[in-house]
Amino acid sequence: MNYAELVEVYEHLEKTSARLKKIDIIAKLMRETPTDMLSKVTLLLQGKVFPSWSEKEIGIADLLMVKIVSKSTGFSEKEILSKFKKTGDFGLVIQELAEKKKQRTLFAKSLTVGKVFENLQKLADIEGKGSQERKFSLVSELISSAKPKEAKYIVRTTLGDLRVGVAEGIIRDAIARAFFKGEKEEMKEIVNAVEWAWFLKPDYGEVAKLAKEGGLKALKKVGIEIGKPYHVLLAEKSTSLEDALEAFEKPALEYKYDGARIIIHKKGNDIWLYTRRLENVTKQFPELIGYVKECVKAKSCVIEGEMLGFDSKTGKPMPFQFLSQRIKRKYEIEKVVKEIPIQVNLFDIVYLNGDVLFDKPLESRRKVLEGIIKPKPGKFQLAEQLVTKDLKKAEKFYEEALKAGQEGLIVKNLEARYQPGRRVGYWLKVKPIMENLDLVIIGAQWGTGKRAGWVGSLVLGCRKGDKFLECGMIGTGIKEKEDKEGVTFTQLTELLKPYIESEKGRDLRIKPKVVVEVAYEEIQKSPNYTSGYALRFPRVVRIRFDREANDADNLERIEKLYGMQRSRSK
Ligand code: AMP
Repeated sequence: MNYAELVEVYEHLEKTSARLKKIDIIAKLMRETPTDMLSKVTLLLQGKVFPSWSEKEIGIADLLMVKIVSKSTGFSEKEILSKFKKTGDFGLVIQELAEKKKQRTLFAKSLTVGKVFENLQKLADIEGKGSQERKFSLVSELISSAKPKEAKYIVRTTLGDLRVGVAEGIIRDAIARAFFKGEKEEMKEIVNAVEWAWFLKPDYGEVAKLAKEGGLKALKKVGIEIGKPYHVLLAEKSTSLEDALEAFEKPALEYKYDGARIIIHKKGNDIWLYTRRLENVTKQFPELIGYVKECVKAKSCVIEGEMLGFDSKTGKPMPFQFLSQRIKRKYEIEKVVKEIPIQVNLFDIVYLNGDVLFDKPLESRRKVLEGIIKPKPGKFQLAEQLVTKDLKKAEKFYEEALKAGQEGLIVKNLEARYQPGRRVGYWLKVKPIMENLDLVIIGAQWGTGKRAGWVGSLVLGCRKGDKFLECGMIGTGIKEKEDKEGVTFTQLTELLKPYIESEKGRDLRIKPKVVVEVAYEEIQKSPNYTSGYALRFPRVVRIRFDREANDADNLERIEKLYGMQRSRSK
């Protein structure tokens, strides 16, 4: 299959914004694609050469790309950078420059999808000495036999920025459209089956192949594969503890531990660990592998829990950043095992000795789980649970959870099944609501890609005397397009431009003038910011035109709110 065919589809997709039209375009391509190429084409349509859960990355930095584009077009690195600054898209840069250099493409032979896919995949395995040169030659090889338009998409795919607007939902619907026919209701069922298969086998490349070869039956039959990640059941927000209790006939309350979801797969002595984002973290937590071997009495199983950084001196959870250091850590793992000990609180089981337990109600799943775990207190144990419908008892339990330094409670329906991938109302989160803060913008970064020319991540500051201290970065809550409500990037950029004090690379220092109201989930201690605090999941609510920098919230207030949240290990 020629890469040019795929490129035509990319071009078509880039020009089309209508969702249904995009689905039709992709479905047609999928139907016409030979079966042995279907997985590859499906991944490439999403701008990928590995499924999203794979640890492999193409790993080409912008600087290397400048060199590659320069070498293959003959234009200087300086010229390329100045063109890039205007559009923020190396794809467009190479297309334009390659067009100017036509003689090269006249002799080019056709590039195949297989060849592009293969070279891009190889990039991920290159490591060590001379790796830059080898990466350089793999990408250059493709570009030198590509036509200008093809070069555009090779470059974009290499940089992980395809820009044709194909979200996962579009691929899902396109698979259904490509390989099935039916009335509205039937199609709904088919789309659900495609999605179900993807929740458990998170690679649309494989799902497309399965749909084509095995039909609806095969999609519905997809189950858990031990050792492979799947999309987990998610929780919904509840307005109050009272409402959450009312929601279910039989509620079970559990601590909402403040850590990261950990999904543990065990098959004999083989153990795998995954996060909720499907990252494989098996290597990062050797002590947990030990706990599983010691405490899980099952030949094979898949169990879920929440993992925390835990300070055994204070008996309290550590701020999330510590655990996140362990999740990201690739080297010298033994060292952090000692510095940041973990605790796992188990709350679910979805597979045991060959049986998938999705259809069992939570009440039985919990019993099964209790039956196979020999707890190791403080390290590997069952999540605290209270079965009650009594508000007084529930409130007491909620207070205990907050006192223990946890986020709140999750109220679960004991009669509900396990629904992978979905945020269904089987689990309800209850946690304290935080008041918004008014903070000053004291820094920012120029955006890249689509956001070139706009200020992107903003540095927030709180007052201390007449100084301003950093208390986090924010990029959420700012809109790309104008609408009735909300703050846009254009608006913020115009507002902040006159106050830029200095510029270093993409980083800007900004005079404290503009105040924004910020909502967030929580205040955390953080060594990364001068105030010592950071906001978790901050989002811009509005610009406070009515406020001056001196009216913004101060450090004292942040400290006070932090103290009110819950008691934690410092
Ligand atoms: P959220 O991330 O706010 O959507 O809340 C859901 C997350 O809470 C889950 O993905 C888990 O990581 C976490 N969590 C903490 N404790 C529990 C628990 N007892 N049961 C289920 N999830 C929990």
